[in-house]
Amino acid sequence: MLFNDQQVEKLVGVETPFYYYDLALLERTLDAAKQAADKRKFHIHYALKANFNDRILSIIRSKGFGADCVSGNEVQKSIDVGFEASKITFAGVGKSDKEITSALKHQIFAFNVESIQELEVIDELAAKLGEKANVSLRINPNVDAHTHHYITTGLDENKFGVPNSELEQAASVLRSCAHVNLVGLHFHVGSQITDLNVFKSLCVKVNEWKNWFEERGTYIKVINVGGGLGVDYHAPDENPIPDFEAYFDVFDKFLDRNGQQEVHFELGRALVAQCGSLVSKVLYTKSGTKKHFLILDAGMTELMRPALYQAYHKIEKIGSDPSAKTINYDVVGPICESSDCFGKEVPLPESKRGDLIAIRTAGAYGEVMASRYNLREEIRYIYST
Ligand SMILES: *Cc1c(COP(=O)(O)O)cnc(C)c1O
Repeated sequence: MLFNDQQVEKLVGVETPFYYYDLALLERTLDAAKQAADKRKFHIHYALKANFNDRILSIIRSKGFGADCVSGNEVQKSIDVGFEASKITFAGVGKSDKEITSALKHQIFAFNVESIQELEVIDELAAKLGEKANVSLRINPNVDAHTHHYITTGLDENKFGVPNSELEQAASVLRSCAHVNLVGLHFHVGSQITDLNVFKSLCVKVNEWKNWFEERGTYIKVINVGGGLGVDYHAPDENPIPDFEAYFDVFDKFLDRNGQQEVHFELGRALVAQCGSLVSKVLYTKSGTKKHFLILDAGMTELMRPALYQAYHKIEKIGSDPSAKTINYDVVGPICESSDCFGKEVPLPESKRGDLIAIRTAGAYGEVMASRYNLREEIRYIYST
């Protein structure tokens, strides 16, 4: 249950829908991740794309995390919030010249490069500025993340990374580019990965590629294994904090590294998903011949994951009423799209117009994906204190 009765009272009169962020839980999660990483001398870059709410970012920065960005504006945002440039990485298959130039001027830690062509463009733009760009080569490890196909990124058929068949050429292009400096290798296999064996397989591939480069006389200082650690969408109260110890332990055990080599991670979801919930009000109830519907004032414009990749989110009624009978509802939003549905046949206490509903585990890829489709209102949010 998200709120106790006292907290529910405070919500009365607050305009819905809104994101509710539990900052105490965020801090506990960050501390757990940081401790488990520090113990093994691992570095964590927070993947901004999961949530770039100002307050959340400044808490993450204050705990000493780096930033992992996928656009020029994310790089700028991290700088504005106070992340050190020396802890900012910039990834993505389609970095524009403008974005690259701006990141070069900020002297960020490294570009995660996804093609030979991009390598050449970065070299050229760095030459113009008289800079030297640090780069990591993104390698597609061909590891199946066993997650939804829209969030699987590490297979040969995906658009991400330098194709394995071009790595020989990439290594020679690197030697001829005077304005780029290879700092490491980058991998990322996908998102919402809950089977740690996937990361074990990743380690095996990383070791192979690291050897491959070292055999060719290229020293790899940084091994960046990406992000992707999943969270428990089904039991947010029982498992509010991912098992970072077990996660980092896999890399500690299975990744070959010498004393000087650094291991970097780019966690997004695992750090912020559980601290956020979308709070919404029941506008209408509707019962057809086969179905009971709860029509909410929040829809896919506030939380797109269910519509976009059939993602599951736990749906709860806020406030307790032990005498209410349970009804299986289809919980839907107001948007004119059939995919605007948060859950089908969801067992909930019988609800009426005006009741509050929480959609849990919405702190990652929630607020950031909100849209103005249907000219919906700007997203609102409140923080626990
Ligand atoms: C999205 C992304 C991440 C973060 O993924 P999570 O599943 O949120 O941890 C990390 N690295 C890269 C390259 C990404 O694209």
